[in-house]
Amino acid sequence: MQNSGNVKEAVQPAEEAESVLASVRAYLVDLQESGIDELPLAASPLVSAAERDMLLGPPPELLSGEEIVETLDSIRSDLGDCHRCQLGATRTSLVFGVGNPNARLVFVGEGPGRDEDLQGEPFVGEAGKLLTRIIEAMGLKRSDVYICNVIKCRPPQNRDPLPSEIEACSSFMLRQVKAINPLMIVALGKFAAQTLLAAKTPISKLRGTFHDYHGIPLMPTFHPAALLRDPALKREVWEDMKQVMKKMGIEPPLQKGGASDGSTKP
Ligand code: SF4
Repeated sequence: MQNSGNVKEAVQPAEEAESVLASVRAYLVDLQESGIDELPLAASPLVSAAERDMLLGPPPELLSGEEIVETLDSIRSDLGDCHRCQLGATRTSLVFGVGNPNARLVFVGEGPGRDEDLQGEPFVGEAGKLLTRIIEAMGLKRSDVYICNVIKCRPPQNRDPLPSEIEACSSFMLRQVKAINPLMIVALGKFAAQTLLAAKTPISKLRGTFHDYHGIPLMPTFHPAALLRDPALKREVWEDMKQVMKKMGIEPPLQKGGASDGSTKP
């Protein structure tokens, strides 16, 4: 007998469902006869856009649209009269960077030397003049490119920057590169290459091939100061620059005798 009660309970919902379906069918037939062929699925969203954003966060397109792109000026003003490391106490000038803020090509060096410290501009000493000759041999002007260093203040007696100094300062160089967003980066010397690539590999092994820096091709090469000490390295640097020119679609300027393959090194 207990079973008969269960059967009744099971039958009742089926009958109710059948009755509801019949009513809906009749209602739809009425609507159709009145000329209404379609019904909206929902009169209003179950959750408003504001409630959805509160629950799930803003949609991805808003997140990327809201990303703040810094300018070189705002990065410079953030640096201020920087004393984040001990080099702030011994410098004459803080050497931020120079060149085209929309440059397609950015050169990153190590840090200011004596001339740069005195003049407040990167690469203006003997090594800087050589870099300018390299840029011009590529068919560009210094003002076409952007030039900066990993650290902004001169280490005393031109010693190598300490890891703590690189750690304190390098984020500003990385922000400069991000603000410019160039087509290509040339890292001059081991400190620039190793900092940008977060690597410990010697520059002699890094140079000569392109690396990836957040989607931007990066060519490490020897620092111009190394070329002053060992002029034989000029050939390798020029080979690296020829690869950069080719990837950027830069035609080498005509050389003496009419050659235009960039075979004459600076
Ligand atoms: S080297 Fe960089 S972190 Fe150190 S004082 Fe100069 S600007 Fe500041």
